[in-house]
Amino acid sequence: MSELSMRAVELDAADELAKLRTQFVLDDVVYLDGNSLGALPAAVPGRVEDVVRRQWGELRIRSWEESGWWTAPERIGDRIAPLVGAAAGQIVVGDSTSVNVFKAVVGAVRLAGEGRDEIVVDATTFPTDGYIAESAARMTGCTVRAVAPGDIRPALGPRTAAVLLNHVDYRTGRLHDLPSLTSAIHEAGAVAVWDLCHSAGALPVGLDEHGVDLAVGCTYKYLNGGPGSPAFLYVRRDLQDRFDSPLPGWNSHVDPFGMRSEYEPAGGAPRGRVGTPDILSMLALEAALEVWEGVSIATVRAKSLALTDFFLECVAAYVPEGRVESVTPSAHADRGSQVALRCDDAREVMRRLIAQGVVGDFREPDILRFGFTPLYVGFGDVERAVRVLAGVVG
Ligand SMILES: *Cc1c(COP(=O)(O)O)cnc(C)c1O
Repeated sequence: MSELSMRAVELDAADELAKLRTQFVLDDVVYLDGNSLGALPAAVPGRVEDVVRRQWGELRIRSWEESGWWTAPERIGDRIAPLVGAAAGQIVVGDSTSVNVFKAVVGAVRLAGEGRDEIVVDATTFPTDGYIAESAARMTGCTVRAVAPGDIRPALGPRTAAVLLNHVDYRTGRLHDLPSLTSAIHEAGAVAVWDLCHSAGALPVGLDEHGVDLAVGCTYKYLNGGPGSPAFLYVRRDLQDRFDSPLPGWNSHVDPFGMRSEYEPAGGAPRGRVGTPDILSMLALEAALEVWEGVSIATVRAKSLALTDFFLECVAAYVPEGRVESVTPSAHADRGSQVALRCDDAREVMRRLIAQGVVGDFREPDILRFGFTPLYVGFGDVERAVRVLAGVVG
């Protein structure tokens, strides 16, 4: 046994989250793609079966009340809240991340004061956020300013209405400084919108503590909600009464069953709703969130950093010098829960890795991306993954 594989055994033995692995359906593949689609929690299939057969099949329309379907978007929002540092009553679940980015960006511009006509967007953003910001700008009479997150400060000024930033960069895994960027945005008098797709469920966010205005996040990545599970929208409590959604629907009406022709928004988190919630995937997500019972996000973060550190250590030890280069920051304060390695023939290398049971993903043009979900990835997995990688590139 190599020194690193012995270390892996010791680290796994000392890992208090290791016992959670049995709550997921996993085979002997090393799954390092939970930042794209989280693994299946074992509680989900039985719950979905019950929702379909009993709640829908037998109770039918009664389930909107009796099975708690109507209130699911806020109930599940309250389940996600502690994972992102939010008190209850500020998060609603529903629609895709893309749709929630739209609600949040237009809502943010409408919250910003008169005379503010610029939307500042992370130039390195996941494409959907940029496309939507561009359209939101056209609709609100704003212009978009695309700025690298490191250069946001000088771009802020009296014209800035809203700033849309990613907490963790989906490609490089860089973690941006949410507390200090949020306060810089506030000092400029603008509204801060954070995209938490790659941080929710992976590291502490502290939405309330840092005074974030609006946030959106994905539930099928580190929250393991399943393919296309609905996203979430956070609107800080003291902004809820002024939040003016660009997608007012009957579900966000103060009296949805009054069927009134005039729109009057509901108060609180329900104001972020649009239409009928996607109940099947929403209740699959609710079952998936049960694995978080009693799990602290600080523990998750500590393990995540230990996993990515160990991965980089194994890469340095096993992979021939110069063959790959990490584009993920080495400082803990700047690192999310993934490692991205630049590699000349990355597409082919990932294809061969997957064929040998190590699943990460490839991102254009030359990035090997490995995501580490602390709930089910262990140190032995990491050592094995890098051993296989070294064989493939060697
Ligand atoms: C994953 C991801 C999305 C996904 O949006 P969908 O509407 O669910 O397809 C959006 N933004 C970021 C930053 C992401 O990482």
